[in-house]
Amino acid sequence: MAETLSLPGFVNAHSHAFQRALRGRTEGDDFWGWRDAMLELAESLTVDGVRVRYEQVYREMLAAGYTAVGEFHYLGAAEAHAAVEAASEAGIELVLLLAAYGRGGIDRFRQASPAEYLDQLEELRTAGVRVGLAPHSVRACPRDWLEELGRYAAAESLPLHVHACEQPREIDECLAEHDLRPVELLAETGCLGPHTTVVHATHADERELDLLAEANARVCICPTTEANLGDGFAPVQELCERGIGICVGSDSNVRIDPLEELRELEGMARRQALKRNVVGLSTLLCFGSDEGAAALGLERWADVEIDLEHPSLAGVAEEDVHPALVFGCSADVFG
Ligand SMILES: [Zn+2]
Repeated sequence: MAETLSLPGFVNAHSHAFQRALRGRTEGDDFWGWRDAMLELAESLTVDGVRVRYEQVYREMLAAGYTAVGEFHYLGAAEAHAAVEAASEAGIELVLLLAAYGRGGIDRFRQASPAEYLDQLEELRTAGVRVGLAPHSVRACPRDWLEELGRYAAAESLPLHVHACEQPREIDECLAEHDLRPVELLAETGCLGPHTTVVHATHADERELDLLAEANARVCICPTTEANLGDGFAPVQELCERGIGICVGSDSNVRIDPLEELRELEGMARRQALKRNVVGLSTLLCFGSDEGAAALGLERWADVEIDLEHPSLAGVAEEDVHPALVFGCSADVFG
């Protein structure tokens, strides 16, 4: 019997499973070039394709130590059910973060109105699916959509996830349209509260970070994707100084490895602060599991087993196992 150690499973708070198929295919373009390739892929997916591909991706996540996932889904209502089935078959806990998309993107992303969106959401809830609201971004959702979704999420105490401040262009467009930065607009439209998770917040300014802290909202950082897409550096230290909860996501799934996400998060903070131990080990592990679960409204999710005889951990003293795990291992240490 191999020697193992049990830990709470890692929680992947932000995934677009279909984007795993793009790994290796889009190198060389900027974010917007990558987005064009993503839209082309999204256009081509069928319900059966979602069902099959997502199950494979969720099995990879489980093998890598993620036992729960928030799937930020914008491919359509029937495809949402296929994603739920895929997760159930793979055996991973899933929260379906149903994206609201009022404008832009491609046909299959969009609903005609907030009412149509809420019908889709309620249909999933009635079917027993654990859901959260996900106004895709301030780019894709006009102000009245944000107001209606913010109201609904608050009234129902449901998680609300939204992409914001990932790319400077999105902030410029928001300023031009609303004379507000994205997080300011979220605050004004009732989308910022304790159940809110802002995905990325890479270019959030001081005022936006203060608003996140005042609202008790969380930020989901997706370090490997943000690095791959050239998004910028997440303001890790500034978030921590304000006591803002952080969770992590595999996002585009170019990598599926919670240890790499946490290591990169701390690595970014160290490079920017010019010191070590910025976040701290126990806080990092908390970001990797408890904060992700709280962001998804999950109370229970499975543990993971660490193979202590794996070459990456063999010979490591007992008291050093946790730091060695985060700073010296990849996801293949999970048994
Ligand atoms: Zn995303």
